[in-house]
Amino acid sequence: MIDGYTRVCGLIGNPVEHTKSPVIHNNLADNTGVNLVYVPFHVETGKVGQAIEGAYALNLLGLNVTVPYKNDCIAFLKDIDPLAEKIGAVNTLVRIDGGYKGYNTDMPGLYRAMVSDGVDFCGKKVVIIGAGGVARAVAVMLAEKDVAQIIIANRTVEKAKAIADEVNGFYDNNVVSVSSLYELKNLPGGNYLAIQATNVGMYPNVDEVVVDDDAFYEKVALGYDLVYNPEETTFMKKLRAKNKPAFNGAKMLLYQGIIAYELWTGKSISDDLAEKVYELMK
Ligand code: NAP
Repeated sequence: MIDGYTRVCGLIGNPVEHTKSPVIHNNLADNTGVNLVYVPFHVETGKVGQAIEGAYALNLLGLNVTVPYKNDCIAFLKDIDPLAEKIGAVNTLVRIDGGYKGYNTDMPGLYRAMVSDGVDFCGKKVVIIGAGGVARAVAVMLAEKDVAQIIIANRTVEKAKAIADEVNGFYDNNVVSVSSLYELKNLPGGNYLAIQATNVGMYPNVDEVVVDDDAFYEKVALGYDLVYNPEETTFMKKLRAKNKPAFNGAKMLLYQGIIAYELWTGKSISDDLAEKVYELMK
């Protein structure tokens, strides 16, 4: 029931029409008894500042931010969480006095998804494939955990190198190194955790895969593809063909939403409710 007390949250981006976030948030609101609705807002190029100011004026409780505004929105915030600042991307705005505070829940979302899938980072060697915005954020998140080594492999190696230099600088160590995609088959040893953070293999190009060589998949113990459409990517098929566990990005999407909802409402979402919403989202 929408009434005079209903609070509004939403998603700003361009495009937003494909989003699954309303399923997550409206079901969370239903199940936690919060009088809240969540709607997508298509924001035209150059209008993100106006959108954020307008949202504040309209008393919106919070916003999610998607492509292409995750960086651009930062200039219009009242405050920013230190992790989001380090990552350089904000996907959640929480209403505070005088404006919004920006957070990045994508990375805590990926972390919570991995923990819920039973992944242990401690002492692990991790390969991140890709060097775009998401790969950079994954590298920052992992550098904060107790991983032994992070290798960033990208088609454009200079971009991987730039992220490695920056992240090593933050933490004053050399935990991050780089590789070309071609060299991945020659990684020393095995037992790597692999995170596929490019858009290769996304619908409709479902037969594409960023690393084709089976020798690489031999060295991987477990893999995550951050792509969630299709449900089983070629990257995942290649791992599963070798009996290695492989997960898609759907749980990351779920948990980035859950963490945003928790920030907006102060509620804590149980594993059972997370599972229920995950089924609805799928
Ligand atoms: P981005 O900044 O545009 O970066 C794209 C990356 O893909 C770059 O490393 C690029 O390599 C690489 N790439 C593109 N086409 C390639 C090709 N044909 N061969 C090899 N490499 C190629 O994108 P992003 O923002 O980081 O997002 C990456 C993906 O993460 C998205 O497509 C999405 O599927 C996923 N994602 C998932 C979630 C979730 O909740 N599950 C959230 C956000 C994003 P170059 O540097 O060489 O161009």
